[in-house]
Amino acid sequence: MANLKRFTGKTVIVTGGCRGIGLSIVERFANEGARVFALDYVIPESGTQLFDNEELNSLTSYLQADVTKEESVKAAIDEILKTNPKIEILVNNAGITRDNLVLRMTEADWDSVLSTNLKGAFICTKVLVRTMMAQRFGRIINIGSVVGTMGNIGQANYSASKAGLIGFTKSIAREFASRNILVNCVAPGYVRTPMTEKLSDDVKQNFMNSIPLKRLAEPSDIANVVCFFASDDASYLTGQLVHVDGGMAM
Ligand code: NDP
Repeated sequence: MANLKRFTGKTVIVTGGCRGIGLSIVERFANEGARVFALDYVIPESGTQLFDNEELNSLTSYLQADVTKEESVKAAIDEILKTNPKIEILVNNAGITRDNLVLRMTEADWDSVLSTNLKGAFICTKVLVRTMMAQRFGRIINIGSVVGTMGNIGQANYSASKAGLIGFTKSIAREFASRNILVNCVAPGYVRTPMTEKLSDDVKQNFMNSIPLKRLAEPSDIANVVCFFASDDASYLTGQLVHVDGGMAM
């Protein structure tokens, strides 16, 4: 990893930041000097210490929040604002899967995926964007998925939620551009995380066959691009979708 400190003095919120891709994003921002708050549904066993590294732990905090509930997100963000009056970067990363063929998919499976993956991003953005507007500075990065573009058997709910995030990204990019709030979407392919570990070997092999680079992504592959979008190097980019998928969608 490059030894950059691009985010010293910046405050970052990462939803679903206690494990998987979110944890890697938290680590990367903290390594680059940011003060990072991970908002997550369940308290990890390690409590508030996310890393084995004192410096990283001093820059990172964990707050319980359910992204599907506006009052829960607002309570967490109000808590952060007490000590950090500016919040520059939001990463809408929290996401779930409830896979099934449409004929077997329950309405509850549909609703919970749309609610977490799409409505969750709307709620977090809505709660935080006033602060960003007042600052005349903000970077919002939504974590989509390659299946939001390509579709996938058994993931009608998930791919609809991720396709919805693309439209959401472009709409709010237009809405907030005049306030210097840039909004982009990073769409991972198949990443090695707890979410994908539970897939069957057959499904994993099928995925592998469709990846031109013939390897799974590591969470850090995604974190690198998220941090690029949050950095000054991306200050003329908004409303963009970047696939980080080893070439699956091209
Ligand atoms: P994980 O399941 O490993 O982590 C997801 C995180 O989101 C968990 O910490 C989870 O919390 C949290 N979360 C779930 N629901 C809520 C909620 N209502 N409120 C707050 N936090 C919540 O997933 P990944 O790291 O694999 O995925 C991260 C993002 O990347 C997701 O948006 C996913 O769709 C996307 N993605 C992942 C891919 C992959 O291959 N892994 C591929 C493409 C996209 P808890 O543990 O407490 O439930």
